Amino acid sequence: MKKYQGVSVSSGLVLGQVSLISKSNRDRTSINRNPQNPEKEMQLLEDAIRTAQSELESMANRADASEQAIFWFQSMLLEDESFLNEVHSYIQAGTGAAEAMNRVGQRYADKLLAMTDNTYLRLRNVDILDATQRVINILCDRPRMRLTLDHPVILAADQLMPSDLFSIPAGMILGIITSEGSALSHAAIIARARKIPSLVQVGRDFLDDCDGRIVVLDADEGVCILDPDADTRQQMVARICAGQREEEGNLETPLQDMPCTTRDGTPFELLANCFGPEDIDSAIQSGAAGVGLLRSDYQILAGDTFDEQEQYFYYTACIAAAGGKPITVRTFDFGSDRTLSNVYRGDQSAHLGMRGIRSSLRSPRNFEAQIRALMRAGTRGPLRIVFPMVTNVEDWDAAMRLVAHCRQNLDERGVPYKSDVPFGIMLSIPAACLTADDFIRHGCQFFVIGTNDLTQYTHAAGREITSAERYFQPTSKAMYRLIRMTVDAAENGHIPVTICGLAVGDSSNAVQYLHMGLRSFSMGPQNLLSVKKALLESEARPDREGPPEQG
Ligand code: PEP
Ligand code: MG
Repeated sequence: MKKYQGVSVSSGLVLGQVSLISKSNRDRTSINRNPQNPEKEMQLLEDAIRTAQSELESMANRADASEQAIFWFQSMLLEDESFLNEVHSYIQAGTGAAEAMNRVGQRYADKLLAMTDNTYLRLRNVDILDATQRVINILCDRPRMRLTLDHPVILAADQLMPSDLFSIPAGMILGIITSEGSALSHAAIIARARKIPSLVQVGRDFLDDCDGRIVVLDADEGVCILDPDADTRQQMVARICAGQREEEGNLETPLQDMPCTTRDGTPFELLANCFGPEDIDSAIQSGAAGVGLLRSDYQILAGDTFDEQEQYFYYTACIAAAGGKPITVRTFDFGSDRTLSNVYRGDQSAHLGMRGIRSSLRSPRNFEAQIRALMRAGTRGPLRIVFPMVTNVEDWDAAMRLVAHCRQNLDERGVPYKSDVPFGIMLSIPAACLTADDFIRHGCQFFVIGTNDLTQYTHAAGREITSAERYFQPTSKAMYRLIRMTVDAAENGHIPVTICGLAVGDSSNAVQYLHMGLRSFSMGPQNLLSVKKALLESEARPDREGPPEQG
């Protein structure tokens, strides 16, 4: 966990994954076009400027009044006579249009940057770079959209351009952190207008190692916390939920108290993904019907205790926080990005290696301690146990043999426990979805679809790898088919199925999952109310639609 101080330019508090717009994404030096003759280059430049201006106009049309001026300003720059004269003279001397634009744009931007006595003009250097870069990209046939995002993220960059914010769909930007930048920049103006929590001037250190990691962005306090520990996350989630409830508080019936029924009368269930008692408490206050996924590993990550008794106290505290509502506890999902120093350490602890139930089965002593603690806690309130990263029925059978051994051990000790705690599996590997019915035949009592991992394994796109982001599609046709298979198997086998993961916290994805047949949704507590609002306004369409066209 590391805290960075910055300057707040738009208030708010969010927790999310960082997506870095790296220097290489906006590399201005690689202009690999061979110039044609000057007349042709002049023509290409004129066409590119016209295209750029029509793109800017369309962004202005989507912007509100305060933002529109930014795009008109950029459009006017591209008509500036002395600017264009300089570009033309480079072209006449044999330089390609893109290179000429790059040189003049950079020189003008540097000139403005040097105007230390005129802050307003100094900050417009970013607009020059943004506008000229747009023309260069058109000339070089490069996409104008820098990032494609499948889930909402906190953007990080050295500084942001106005069009960065306009080339990403609304709702995909949870927050903004820049190492440089200023409160007066146009990007900051847009962030404020759109109520996107934003922090500037956090320093270069932050950018070095932030991509794909979790960050708390507390723009109210002017800080961000990289890799927050469990306590910090829980405190932040509690504050975020309280803020959300306040915002929704002027409805006649508070959203969290409304019955969960779609517009066409189909009931649904909203659950929360939690880390421990504190955020369970906040989730229940925001109307969650229970905990759909308790990531039990996070209690351990901070230390390394596996003591059965300590775990028993922890699960009992979680059950108490849920106040009689059911909780689904995932057994440890160590390996890959969640490793412990001296236990479950695997030489093969990669995404495709010894994660989740695979590592638990390799350490039966620790696994059994956890199962015993959970079965004992099961006497205190409704609890279910789910195994992560299950590939095939052999995994399931092996885990259930250890469960049987736990029952025997507890019987011998004469300790009270709940012997019929339901056991289920996380569907996060396509192989498991494709054979979902086998698990039911082998006694599996419920399914939890984990969209984070299922998306990554289905598309062979690491969840933290930005360059593979366009393959990471949580509602693709492939996902649709795997999810439908799982839902059908659950329906035929008469067992419940819940869908969880980051994607579910996005309202439009949640509606798509509703159309795929899901009725139980688990998400971060901070997303409960917005997803509820979207589902209340949707129709379940029981005669389900076909798969989406793209992907
Ligand atoms: C998932 O894979 O969808 C999930 C919720 O688990 P985690 O993000 O903890 O891997
Ligand atoms: Mg997972």
